[in-house]
Amino acid sequence: MLSPKKRTSTEQPSSPEYLQMSLAAAMTLGLKEGLFFRNARLYCLNLLLTYPEGCRANCAYCGLQKSREGAFGEKSFIRVPWPTYDLETIMRETIAHKARLHRVCISMITHSRAVQDTLYLTERFHREVGLPVSILMNPTSMKPSDLQEMKRKGAQMAAVALDLATEDLFDLHRGKGVGGPHRFDQYWEMLSATAEVFGRNKAGCHLIVGMGEREDQMIQRIQKVRDLGARTHLFSFFPEKGSRMAHKKSCPVDQYRRIQLARYLIDFDHCRAEDLEFDDQGRIISFGLKKSEVEQWIDTGRPFMTSGCPGGGMEAACNRPYGDGPASDIRSFPFPLEAQDIALVKQQLGWE
Ligand code: SF4
Repeated sequence: MLSPKKRTSTEQPSSPEYLQMSLAAAMTLGLKEGLFFRNARLYCLNLLLTYPEGCRANCAYCGLQKSREGAFGEKSFIRVPWPTYDLETIMRETIAHKARLHRVCISMITHSRAVQDTLYLTERFHREVGLPVSILMNPTSMKPSDLQEMKRKGAQMAAVALDLATEDLFDLHRGKGVGGPHRFDQYWEMLSATAEVFGRNKAGCHLIVGMGEREDQMIQRIQKVRDLGARTHLFSFFPEKGSRMAHKKSCPVDQYRRIQLARYLIDFDHCRAEDLEFDDQGRIISFGLKKSEVEQWIDTGRPFMTSGCPGGGMEAACNRPYGDGPASDIRSFPFPLEAQDIALVKQQLGWE
């Protein structure tokens, strides 16, 4: 077993002895008080490596980007605060609240210690907690052989946050365009290797809608991910305060709904990207199935729920409550939709 680096008492919190966790995770473990809108509950404990030096990358949309001013611990990862706790408290409370949870996810950041610390944490959560473990990997800090090691330490799934649908947009927002270290080819190759090492439906690809891509480009990317045997975990872009893209708006809700619906149909093998039709601006005008079949899927509400790693009989145990939009404009529903939600979604889709 790898052992964590010893720290002196004067050092700032650093992984693996400390981790950040989503506010929803802290509430689920009883470490923070509060209730989510409509009593949304969390089923996957989302954890994030943390280092005093922060993340070495510079992604334009991320609250952790190194060029942003402020101490790393004060920066938020996505939308909501990510408080920091010591690992032993997290382990103890996770074991105590295990019955409420179906998965643990460890998110890497771009740091030289990220792989070694992720392996250590994966082994501990796998062995001591016993819930399925996902790793949201950082290909820039990794080599392909690390995948085998992650699996050997007990990771059940792994995902790559490609985030951008096209190579050009990736370069613009994560690579050369921002002086960042990430390279599209490295991300794609790691995703492909992950699907091979972990197996069909055990690899995931995070993609963000509303980063300047056309709908047809996003659909083609989702199909390419599916063709690897992986699935897409979808997000709607939300402007992070303090990030380079803080001024940019989320995409129109109808765009996100069409992509959610198509993503669901492609990822669960009901249609392929080639079956869809698009207008001259790349917008989806047909989903490649009979209208009555599409409506049946809309009426389940499932395409519009958060997409992520499964667990506990749910298509996505990782439901990240309100992670990509406020409660007043829910983009990814963290709970099953009710009749009024489905009516709203149909209205947003312009479904007649
Ligand atoms: S979908 Fe959730 S559990 Fe899966 S890798 Fe992404 S953040 Fe982690």
